Amino acid sequence: MRIITTVATLHLHLNQLRKQGKSIGFSPTMGALHAGHSSLINEAKARKDYSVCSIFVNPTQFNQASDLQNYPRTLSDDVALLESLDNDLLFLPTVRSIYPATLKSIPDYDFGSLTQVLEGVYRPGHFTGVIQVMYRLLYLVQPNHLYMGLKDYQQQAIVRQLIEYAGLPTQLIPCPTVREEDGLAMSSRNKRLDAQQRNKAPLIYQVLQHAKAQTPHAIPTDIQTQAKHRLESEGFKVDYFEIVDSKTLLPITQFSDQSALACVAAWLGDVRLIDNLFLQ
Ligand code: AMP
Repeated sequence: MRIITTVATLHLHLNQLRKQGKSIGFSPTMGALHAGHSSLINEAKARKDYSVCSIFVNPTQFNQASDLQNYPRTLSDDVALLESLDNDLLFLPTVRSIYPATLKSIPDYDFGSLTQVLEGVYRPGHFTGVIQVMYRLLYLVQPNHLYMGLKDYQQQAIVRQLIEYAGLPTQLIPCPTVREEDGLAMSSRNKRLDAQQRNKAPLIYQVLQHAKAQTPHAIPTDIQTQAKHRLESEGFKVDYFEIVDSKTLLPITQFSDQSALACVAAWLGDVRLIDNLFLQ
């Protein structure tokens, strides 16, 4: 696997590949890689893309300094995992190369409700940072395919919109959420759960599955209230449990033809977990 740390080398290398007619598949990550990330690389390889993975802990998307500081960094394990997956290129940019002093601004598109609901309410400024870094990474890598996990459903919905607004020639390939055997969605943050919290964490997926079992007969708001109550009674601090239209991410009050998605964010101690499940 080739490891590139500078924008100039990245340009040279990817331009050569493009000239050879290679399709470039890109999986942006913040490292501390696990099987969820592997699934993106595997999908890129299955599509015969030249697989580019980036590891960049983007400072502008953290709304709490402590979260940025505590974010796990496991570079040598990450490199070993990427090698084992036969990933072709690892891009390890510096903060200065993503945000050079000469960069004056990044286009300020209006994402409407997409950035304002769910995570947008609880992590002010988070999506502004995500949009900044994705705009820069997409500009630098110019991939044919962009692989993103459905675990971060709202994030991939916003990036899909960004690609459309910016007119980028990139196709977003959404990849299913990879879970532990007990249903907990894999996340770099899971490493920070203690043993007791780790035992409790799968309840999030159980509650999502229960919501699905109640669909479409129950009323969405009743499902939400029950789900929150169940999580809180087990010691979770729930930011939200919402049933939304998967296109607009706005809450739905009754099940009809639209595609309904249940989204949850909850804390166990100081670890914040998010997950989601299509209900119909
Ligand atoms: P992160 O390193 O957390 O920024 O995630 C990088 C990419 O991996 C994003 O597109 C995530 O949605 C995706 N990802 C993270 N966890 C999972 C998972 N459990 N299953 C599938 N994709 C995931």
